[in-house]
Amino acid sequence: MNFNELNLSDNILNAIRNKGFEKPTDIQMKVIPLFLNDEYNIVAQARTGSGKTASFAIPLIELVNENNGIEAIILTPTRELAIQVADEIESLKGNKNLKIAKIYGGKAIYPQIKALKNANIVVGTPGRILDHINRGTLNLKNVKYFILDEADEMLNMGFIKDVEKILNACNKDKRILLFSATMPREILNLAKKYMGDYSFIKAKINANIEQSYVEVNENERFEALCRLLKNKEFYGLVFCKTKRDTKELASMLRDIGFKAGAIHGDLSQSQREKVIRLFKQKKIRILIATDVMSRGIDVNDLNCVINYHLPQNPESYMHRIGRTGRAGKKGKAISIINRREYKKLRYIERAMKLKIKKLKFG
Ligand code: AMP
Repeated sequence: MNFNELNLSDNILNAIRNKGFEKPTDIQMKVIPLFLNDEYNIVAQARTGSGKTASFAIPLIELVNENNGIEAIILTPTRELAIQVADEIESLKGNKNLKIAKIYGGKAIYPQIKALKNANIVVGTPGRILDHINRGTLNLKNVKYFILDEADEMLNMGFIKDVEKILNACNKDKRILLFSATMPREILNLAKKYMGDYSFIKAKINANIEQSYVEVNENERFEALCRLLKNKEFYGLVFCKTKRDTKELASMLRDIGFKAGAIHGDLSQSQREKVIRLFKQKKIRILIATDVMSRGIDVNDLNCVINYHLPQNPESYMHRIGRTGRAGKKGKAISIINRREYKKLRYIERAMKLKIKKLKFG
């Protein structure tokens, strides 16, 4: 399928072309027509990298009227995601005169109040959005489209109560779209409570990611990692359990000549940004991280993710591997396990309906 089969305006087709998107991704093929042509609410299971943002941004740009105040609100769990989402909308809106207000904490409130006065679409994090609602500087009574992005992360970060308050502050007749990489019970309950009948859409788990594992004795784990990292093309993340592991592993790798960086909670904001910048510039091609710290890393062309330690649960596995194989590119996800961890890997495989093959070291 091509974008021009989706009934889009010339303006947006132009913007899509300028962004260099050639074909719609799986989730875009499913969500765009439903959002544009039906009246249903939508629950979509899709992760970062699937093209989920454009799947709602494109119809929103088509549907939102430039002259009717705030017609759409998008809630994201983090500031970084709010910025990414707002940027994606900006870059797709072409010459439609839509005003997008970015509303998140850590920034002065007055420029936000000003931005809200002219906004058509609000993108933000729950805390600051609620703050504006409570101050009376954000009125959601005309909202037609409510989009909840990365709902499972909202849950993990304890924002669900805030999300409900914001839902209740909106116009009752709004359409709701909920995006989530995983579908824990609490999220389905939220959908049931607020969304009535909805269409459920599931993006294909990225066929671009080749998943495998290597089984080693515990004392061979580091050596196995080194063998994987010797590939000159390697550009990716290595996940560890704790921040201490990330520091130790990065320093062990550097000791033997690998250019590796680590990102963990003990770094200051500016140190963290520096590591991410070096990684994005490919001055370091190996980045060691924990689950929490990997959230802010938005790089599309990683070709590999290694689980040096297995994650706590199947959901984290999905988040980790979703860092590669993005935006139509190919990627590998390799887990290093010992014999005792084999069962846990199989559990992840079953729970997420995946196929994780044994990797032959050659
Ligand atoms: P997302 O899943 O929304 O985080 O998108 C991941 C990345 O894929 C973003 O950088 C998008 O700009 C990019 N992207 C979205 N749709 C497409 C597409 N149809 N073709 C190529 N890249 C895309």
